[in-house]
Amino acid sequence: MNSVTQVINEAHLSTNSTLGKCAEIEVYGEPLNPSINYSSAYAFKSIEELGAYHDNKFDSVRYTRDSSLIVRQLEHYFSLMHGKQPALMFNSGMGAISACFSALVTSKSRIIAFGSFYRKSLSIFQGYQKNFGVEYINVTNLDELNNLNSEDTLVLIESPSNPFLELVDVQAVRTALPDASIILDTTFQGLLNSKSGYQGVDIVLASCTKYIGGHNDLLAGYVICQNQSMYSKIWDERSMRGGIIDNQSAYLLLRSLRTYDLRVNKTLENMSYVLKFLDDSPVVENIYYPGQYENAAQSVLFESEHYHGGGVVTFRVSESVPLNKNLETLCSTKMAPSFGSVDSLVEIPMYMSHWGKTLADVKKLGLDERTVRFSVGNEPIQYILNDLMKLLNEK
Ligand SMILES: *Cc1c(COP(=O)(O)O)cnc(C)c1O
Repeated sequence: MNSVTQVINEAHLSTNSTLGKCAEIEVYGEPLNPSINYSSAYAFKSIEELGAYHDNKFDSVRYTRDSSLIVRQLEHYFSLMHGKQPALMFNSGMGAISACFSALVTSKSRIIAFGSFYRKSLSIFQGYQKNFGVEYINVTNLDELNNLNSEDTLVLIESPSNPFLELVDVQAVRTALPDASIILDTTFQGLLNSKSGYQGVDIVLASCTKYIGGHNDLLAGYVICQNQSMYSKIWDERSMRGGIIDNQSAYLLLRSLRTYDLRVNKTLENMSYVLKFLDDSPVVENIYYPGQYENAAQSVLFESEHYHGGGVVTFRVSESVPLNKNLETLCSTKMAPSFGSVDSLVEIPMYMSHWGKTLADVKKLGLDERTVRFSVGNEPIQYILNDLMKLLNEK
């Protein structure tokens, strides 16, 4: 009987599929891109080979909820970008953050975070507090850390932070809390933007959905275990709860890494014009950008730690500007959450992530209906400036 299965099996057995070479036909050319393999399970030739897998499971593959070929490739690159510390890929930034906390938090834990930061990370801490009585402290001034016992302490630092792009002095936190586990969310920094190499940090993590993916077409996150004793715990957590990145998104992310430098350089070039425009505008009252304008008091910290301030700027406009109406007139800039992509995006945080809260409540976070967050994309700069003129009613 003619069997399709037989044809495929025979063809498959005659080739030795390896990473980067999965094609089962003879060709002369080598692919320019990594081969994607969607397998959810991997076959072993013998019990002995399976034993070898178990001895080396962190570097190998068996089932795609644990790891896969394309995920290992991605982790290899992220590891190289972080001083060869082990990397773990997740299905989103929140997948990465929640896996770290769920691997490390205990009934004795105290969680500390600084000022304003990503709202969903806060929701996780509030959940631990409400459901399990875990202590959660929000710190606005580093002096508040003095005299705190740092045993059983988990610290989340988001730097620069959302939405005012303030830095947290990571070294000062480490000095104040010598025994704490420090988890640093670097989403707003992008890649390769630390001069210190994140010394004193146990875990570096970020959402890849923003600058790294860069096209608003994938969700992903990564974790770098600088404290290597945490690696197997977080690996197990990912395996148990199913937070690994899917193979298609992993492929898109490999694609995105190839244009990362180009995209970020263009964004920074555009940003320099945007900052000048905002600074010159008579209706812009405050500008928040890492190490500059309202954050100028942090310029020394910024210069010592970062190469650039990224593609997001937050600013407050005067009451004379009918912001809501003007938002409807923009041409290429879209009103959407997220940031760091080739598309310029604008949002008023009060109406995006804080919808339904009263003005008095958002004011406690430093926000109001006139505070705008703008993510600079890769469009021709004149498109972006034209939209900003419309937004601010300038001719
Ligand atoms: C977007 C974001 C996250 C969450 O990442 P997702 O990929 O959307 O889950 C976490 N932290 C910061 C600072 C972010 O901006």
